[in-house]
Amino acid sequence: MQTSVIGYPRVGSLRELKFATEKYFKNDITQEALLEQAKTLRAEHLKSMKESGIDFIPVNDFSFYDGMLDTVVLLNTIPARYCKLNVSELDTYFAMARGYQKDGKDVKALAMKKWFNTNYHYMVPEIEDDADIRLAGKKPFDEFKEALTCGVVAKPVLIGPFTFLKLARYTGTKSAADFADACAAAYSEALKKFANLGAKWVQFDEPALVYDLTAEEIALFEKLYRVILAAKGSAKVLLQTYFGDIRDAYDTVTKLGFDGIGIDFLEGKKSFELVSTKGFPAQTVLFAGLVNGKNIWKNHYRKTIDRLNELSAFAKEIVLSTSCSLLHVPYTLENETKLPEAYKKHFAFAREKLAELSDLAKIVANGDREVLAANDALFATARPDCENAAVRTRLQAVSEADFERKPAFAEREKIQKEALALPQFPTTTIGSFPQTADVKANRKAFKAGQISEEEYKKFNQEKIRECVKLQEELDLDVLVHGEYERNDMVEYFGEQLSGYLFTEKAWVQSYGTRCVKPPIVWGDISREKPMTVEWSVFAKSCTNRPMKGMLTGPVTILNWSFPREDISHKESALQIALAIRDEVLDLEAAGINIIQIDEAALREKLPLRKSDWYSEYLDWAIPAFRLVHSGVKASTQIHTHMCYSEFTDIIPTIDNMDADVITFEASRSDLLILDALRANNFKTEVGPGVYDIHSPRVPSEEEIVNALSRMLARINPEKLWVNPDCGLKTRGTTETVASLQNMVAAAKRLRANNE
Ligand code: GLN
Ligand code: ZN
Repeated sequence: MQTSVIGYPRVGSLRELKFATEKYFKNDITQEALLEQAKTLRAEHLKSMKESGIDFIPVNDFSFYDGMLDTVVLLNTIPARYCKLNVSELDTYFAMARGYQKDGKDVKALAMKKWFNTNYHYMVPEIEDDADIRLAGKKPFDEFKEALTCGVVAKPVLIGPFTFLKLARYTGTKSAADFADACAAAYSEALKKFANLGAKWVQFDEPALVYDLTAEEIALFEKLYRVILAAKGSAKVLLQTYFGDIRDAYDTVTKLGFDGIGIDFLEGKKSFELVSTKGFPAQTVLFAGLVNGKNIWKNHYRKTIDRLNELSAFAKEIVLSTSCSLLHVPYTLENETKLPEAYKKHFAFAREKLAELSDLAKIVANGDREVLAANDALFATARPDCENAAVRTRLQAVSEADFERKPAFAEREKIQKEALALPQFPTTTIGSFPQTADVKANRKAFKAGQISEEEYKKFNQEKIRECVKLQEELDLDVLVHGEYERNDMVEYFGEQLSGYLFTEKAWVQSYGTRCVKPPIVWGDISREKPMTVEWSVFAKSCTNRPMKGMLTGPVTILNWSFPREDISHKESALQIALAIRDEVLDLEAAGINIIQIDEAALREKLPLRKSDWYSEYLDWAIPAFRLVHSGVKASTQIHTHMCYSEFTDIIPTIDNMDADVITFEASRSDLLILDALRANNFKTEVGPGVYDIHSPRVPSEEEIVNALSRMLARINPEKLWVNPDCGLKTRGTTETVASLQNMVAAAKRLRANNE
């Protein structure tokens, strides 16, 4: 049996690409040095896959920032404002990714969105009416040729035209269908080019097929691929899908004559049913996604082999594949020196998944009994330190009333307005302040045992003191402590909650050069002791202004962790909710009367199909959030924060989280969300982000006043908060201070106008 990898992580096992890219941004290294680093990494990745005996090795899965953005370049759809910058190709590319503000030029970045139901972000292509879609980029071909020089006839990977067109934003009057012919022509040409270079297979990624699709969308898909398949030369075409099943498009996909179809049998609930009831075309190779590209648990070989056997009744030829790109898991367990073997042996990261693929292929080929038996043994015994009876008992005792905060919102709002006495349009930030090198160094030194706990704390307290002082000088109304003790909003809690495991180097790319290190839910979750109270209390002691406590909510903690596969997500989320609930009550008892519970990742795990939204997710996710805060007093103000504004279709549900204030991203997207809030009579107070923190660009006061004025046209002035669109930890100090100054000045101008 042959094996296929859909895509491999890019940033390097020690994040080499991230560091090189950031140095390049700071002008510390040349473009050549950056290109060289990238090349080295690509060669390493090819080598890992080659050594593991992978048959279908991907190329062009590499990216300097994002694969969608690469496709923008490939298809000649760089918006005019970036071309006009007149900078190098690479800098034009980075300008689209991060915005450009230099030499009197000032251009914002493209919008960024979460990639399906993952924590990876893609850049949203913008297609203008006069876009001239054609094959313009060279990257995929260059990388294919480069692989040849490494002795690998690789399988080039392209984001397919359907997914590209479906995820793009159209700035004019045209829509996806208007660009179908041009797109099909461009991809046909790419296919021919690959064939001429010697490619045997080309992979077209079409994850958009796992959404609910309309008849027009399916027709668009069919139109695109009829052209592409008719024109194809000697290279075979693999249509690769992932993140779910393709129930709406299955009939179309299977009749078009693809050489290979890649199907996700792990996340695709109906994948097996589709293949077994509808059949599978005899001349097509089934690429069976059975090694999980999203989670880090070892593959249960026997289960996989059983599934392969079942599938072989329907598909003549099967290639064993990952379920999606391995981009979503860390590189290798080899970098984990602290994780005891008793735990470690249950995991497989990207490189170990390569070994799993080859193990499985061997088992199929010659029934390698020993490997199979060893794997069986692993799944036959209970994992150590996994179950906690007290947690289970407590969860069983939770009643309906525990999900209900009293009194109702309207009454609380009055009580809080009086108690807090904030000015109109209160200003605040989302929590973190720039994580400067000294902050990171302090944490690192403490972790490495080079400084004492006392020294560590003292340093952070000094930072907090400075941060509070800065916020007072800026004249912000609701202050934060700055989150200097946190490496990451989820990992920080994961490290302190029992039931969690954490890793040293298990980084996963989130966007561009930003990586996260998701902790692992190993067992039942509980809180041993307060996790944030000391920092918040110290910060509060530095000021007379209100200090906002800062927590991460249960849904986000779970969504940004690697979840268990032996109990439901609902059960894990409720366990975490009880732990965070204890923290909320401790903060309140310590005098912190504004508490923000971030649910940055609530949206991203919404099932991709609408029909599953409530039954599979929201019906437990929203209660989990409510369980966290239902125990506080009426005068305690609960904030929540979300890093996106695409919740137009679940506005009542978001309102139903019953927070008092919600801040969210609104600066990169249009303000349509505000119309929707109004139409839905949204009760919760709102802080739509007034500027984009994902870019170093400083927004002018004028610009913020404009944004706020547009908001005010739609939002009751008594409900509007003023804040950036996310935490400031990735930003530098200078730009942060300048931006916040402008933000506070804008709020003041508005207050004056409104008097
Ligand atoms: N409180 C967190 C911060 O400010 C929120 C981060 C996020 O939403 N991603 O960094
Ligand atoms: Zn955010």
